Amino acid sequence: MTWLRDRLPAGGGLRDEDWAGRHRLLTVLLAVVMVVLTVFGVFQGEHHAVTLLLTDGLILPAVAAAALLRSRRLRSVAVALGFTVACAGFVSLSHGLTEAHFTFFIVVAALALYRDWAPFGAFLVATTLHHGVFGTLVGDHTYDHQNATAHPLIWALVHGVAVLFAAGFQLISWSLSETEEQRAQENLDESQAQLSVAFDETPVPMAMIDPDGVLVRTNAAFREWLRLPAELPAGFALTDLPIKSVDEAGARLFETLTGRTEPVTVTHQYRRADDGSLMWVQVHSTGLYDRHGRLRMVFVHCLDVTAVRDHEAELHYQVRHDSLTGLLSRKAFEHDLAGLLDRSREPVSVIYLDVDRFKTINDGSGHTTGDDVLRALAVRLRQVVPAGALIARLGGDEFVVALPGPAGTGLRVGNGILAALAEPLPIGAQELPVSVSVGVTTAFGPAAVDDVVLAADTAMYAAKRAGGNRVQVFTDALRVPVQERIAAETRLRRALAASPRHTLPLWFQPVVSTVTGQIIGAEALVRMRTPEGTILGPHAFVGVAEETGLIVPLGEHVLRSAIDHLLHWSDRLGYVSVNVSPRQLAEPDFVPMVAGVLAGVPHLDPSRVVLEITETALLSSAGDVSERLAALKQLGVRIALDDFGTGYSSLTWLKSLPADIVKLDRSFVAGLAGDPRKSSIISAVLWLAHSLGMSTIAEGVEDLADWSALQAAGCPAVQGYFFSKPLPAPDFDRMLASAGRTSSLIRS
Ligand code: C2E
Ligand code: CA
Ligand code: CA
Repeated sequence: MTWLRDRLPAGGGLRDEDWAGRHRLLTVLLAVVMVVLTVFGVFQGEHHAVTLLLTDGLILPAVAAAALLRSRRLRSVAVALGFTVACAGFVSLSHGLTEAHFTFFIVVAALALYRDWAPFGAFLVATTLHHGVFGTLVGDHTYDHQNATAHPLIWALVHGVAVLFAAGFQLISWSLSETEEQRAQENLDESQAQLSVAFDETPVPMAMIDPDGVLVRTNAAFREWLRLPAELPAGFALTDLPIKSVDEAGARLFETLTGRTEPVTVTHQYRRADDGSLMWVQVHSTGLYDRHGRLRMVFVHCLDVTAVRDHEAELHYQVRHDSLTGLLSRKAFEHDLAGLLDRSREPVSVIYLDVDRFKTINDGSGHTTGDDVLRALAVRLRQVVPAGALIARLGGDEFVVALPGPAGTGLRVGNGILAALAEPLPIGAQELPVSVSVGVTTAFGPAAVDDVVLAADTAMYAAKRAGGNRVQVFTDALRVPVQERIAAETRLRRALAASPRHTLPLWFQPVVSTVTGQIIGAEALVRMRTPEGTILGPHAFVGVAEETGLIVPLGEHVLRSAIDHLLHWSDRLGYVSVNVSPRQLAEPDFVPMVAGVLAGVPHLDPSRVVLEITETALLSSAGDVSERLAALKQLGVRIALDDFGTGYSSLTWLKSLPADIVKLDRSFVAGLAGDPRKSSIISAVLWLAHSLGMSTIAEGVEDLADWSALQAAGCPAVQGYFFSKPLPAPDFDRMLASAGRTSSLIRS
């Protein structure tokens, strides 16, 4: 019994809307059948009037009950009974015609649409009853053959069984589809459950949005993320979310999502309404479409990518900026300049800056101070350079600025920078005067970034060579020196690497006493012998040596070589003087180097070595130059103030210097004889130097008149072509040998 029950369908499981459709169909059908039956009955003749009235009289309430009753079951039973009556009526009107009984089987199939026991059962019972009762009472109205009329109950049973079989197969089919449906439902339930888990439990904020932008479903992560209540009010739409897009495109997000059929991924920045914080949100969306291609739903999941974005932005910033100054990095500058050159309708000015004597600051005051200077300089640049300009540090002490603007913009900005640096830079508690060399160039239209920057760099070098603290505009003529400079550097490196005594020989120019006419000393002047045998003057390589730092090994070579020669001429030459460039003096290793060289020649009186230092070197260098000079004096060497008269030439300043010798510059000396102003200045210097215990040498004496004037003014010593040009060591040697004769020549 239980076996059978398990296999029989449960019935009554149709969904309301499905059931209502089927019921409507069957009710209408029943009404139609009634009408057809009435017509049929009328044609059958008058003696059927009672049957017809009875039939219609029973179908009509069945139709009414089917339409008006509340219970699903009762309504379907009404339809079943109505059909039973209709079939019975039809059989009766057909005089029990066997074929008329087919209608019962049709109705079995029709009622199976209900998939319910009640109408089915009602029909079975009613059919059997009808056959039994009517077969007995009015046999000829139920069966058209003798046997059936004679044994109505047997035939009622036969018909009942036949209907039951028809019903049985309907049952089987109904049961099978119920099982299938159940299975489908289970699958659906399972996948629904899975979806629910995936949707509701995932930590990724997700939402389903209908085509009107209303949030149909959201998961806990979504609500938590946007601080929404667990239950959203009905009709809660995207526009009600407590976040607002920062940009236009983000505000039109929904149009973006619904405008495309393929999945969309977009990232926008939003501001939270509650605390105003900003966040980057990556939205992935997939549209769900019906089979007509209409959008039913948009399924979105959102990722808060703020941290990733911030990290990316940080990385991007680091790559694009110089960590020391916060200005653009070289890479970023080159990239942005390329864009500027492409875009700009105006010419683009590029301004290249290099700090003058930065190495002096760095070596003299330490790298921390050097860094502070670069930072302070960056701040100042930002102040003077027009807003929107690109400002970068290219590395070291080199900066570059680029901006669009009419011709002359670069020069104006360059001069503005120089003017802004007239004020010293604040470094910690103190202030440091800093100047820059500025090169300016202008590019039109798309030009190669490298070329433009190189041009500005070239102009900057020209400004630097011209003494720094100035602006130089690029011209084609400047290009040559760059190449020359590179060649000169290579040449100098080779010369230093070879045997410097041969490749970098010293020439000597005598210093002569105006009193005795004797050679009292000599200035060592370095020369370069090229592989081709040409002799180059210092102007061809000393500048490069200073720029590249090669002045350090070069200076050491000159000092050693000069001392060697002095020792060689020991009994004939009083002293030798060597030139020390500002850059050399700034080297922290300079004093130890001199000390080391002197230690190698213990028998030499160190006062026979003179170091010539220019006035500008002393002026421009950082504070500890005086300490360095004092340390040099401690070693016993003498200091000569070279080129006096070309720099500040303040006579009072002379007092504070630890110099032993003042060398009057050639510009002071030339034409002295005919210029009373020059001679009065020279007299003042001579007097002051004498009173300070310093000796004076007049440089660049080229003719007898000047020589005589200097002698008359009481200048103790002179140097110049009049007496001798600088000579190679062997020639100088010969001159020393014949010095007696030469001096007598001068005296005469
Ligand atoms: P300076 O120290 O002023 O050297 C004097 C320069 O004037 C020498 O040029 C010399 O040849 C030139 N001179 C001497 N007498 C006369 C004259 O009567 N008339 C004219 N017109 N010129 C005269 P030089 O040898 O070409 O040296 C140029 C500069 O190169 C030097 O100027 C010095 O500053 C630098 N220099 C030379 N040798 C060295 C060196 O070994 N180390 C460093 N750091 N600098 C050096
Ligand atoms: Ca000199
Ligand atoms: Ca000089």
